[in-house]
Amino acid sequence: TRPGVAPLVQLNDGKQIPSLGFGTWLGFSKEGGLEPVVDDKVQRAVEAAIDAGYRHIDTAAIYDTEEQVGKAIQNKIAEGVVAREDLFITSKLWNDRHAQKDVVPALKESLAKLNLTYLDLYLIHWPIAQYANGTYYDTDYVETWKGMIDAQVLGLARSIGVSNFNITQLDRLLTMTPVKPAVLQVEVNINLQQAELIKFCKEHDIAVVGYTPFGSLFHNRAAPDAPPPRTDNQTLLKIADKYHKTIAQVNLRYLVELGVIPIPKSVTPKRINENIEVFDFQLTQNEKDLMKAFDKNYRTIPVTMWIDSPYYPFNKK
Ligand code: NDP
Repeated sequence: TRPGVAPLVQLNDGKQIPSLGFGTWLGFSKEGGLEPVVDDKVQRAVEAAIDAGYRHIDTAAIYDTEEQVGKAIQNKIAEGVVAREDLFITSKLWNDRHAQKDVVPALKESLAKLNLTYLDLYLIHWPIAQYANGTYYDTDYVETWKGMIDAQVLGLARSIGVSNFNITQLDRLLTMTPVKPAVLQVEVNINLQQAELIKFCKEHDIAVVGYTPFGSLFHNRAAPDAPPPRTDNQTLLKIADKYHKTIAQVNLRYLVELGVIPIPKSVTPKRINENIEVFDFQLTQNEKDLMKAFDKNYRTIPVTMWIDSPYYPFNKK
């Protein structure tokens, strides 16, 4: 593979998705809630990512980064670096727009912010319907999915999928509606390897996009109780040295070999360049076995605040 190019993966609807993407969520703030988007660092990061060769960009209505992603795309198209059809742009429907009739208007708002006429992929961000004030409402995600199908029929989203759904929830979509999700986006990293979910998705030809691909690898992100490894882990350092790669790259490569499409986020140009250079080496079975041992079914992003919703997708441990 040429440097800085992620091979394409076939989706079940005939479209293709680049096998690595770029995350644009700024994360939680130290005070709680989402980190506010105050300057143009996301725009600059997306521009650096497109220059580095990323063609798949992940955003969401709730991240408040759609406008900056849109500006970066316009700039790179104007500079002649990419054409719109070379890019794969994903956004996500927030929980307060789950009524079937609200999906297309919400998508149109995202398109206006992104300054685009269509998305490559639109996802239901969570299976949970909530009013803007945070209280739940009763809309079943199957109804929401019908709104997603409407959006696809209108050509506003070329592919549609879901995020943070469990197997039971995916199965309900498969049995109750005529259109299969093309993609499931969930947390996947060395501490949360999601073997069962990935197996289910493989059987049903649903592509798995892995968010928070670094999990708790970096000390500043890891909670005090997070299981190893961190970046000083000797097993990972040895593998990284062998391939002249960084531990970050070895982790992304491992996810690619699990059949997952990772979407690492960085606002640091050096790391942005580093994170896409994972298609010129391959891990041995022994190395993959060593990395498998770090799978602890541990979530870096637990999202426990919705644990009392009937649609909460994760184990209520
Ligand atoms: P990531 O696992 O991508 O980690 C991001 C952090 O790692 C940042 O602090 C970044 O620092 C740092 N980092 C990135 N690359 C390197 C490197 N090579 N060396 C050292 N540090 C590095 O976490 P995210 O939670 O951001 O997940 C990725 C994306 O997934 C999100 O941005 C979002 O698009 C999506 N997502 C989707 C969710 C969903 O519910 N569907 C939930 C969570 C995320 P810095 O930026 O300072 O360089």
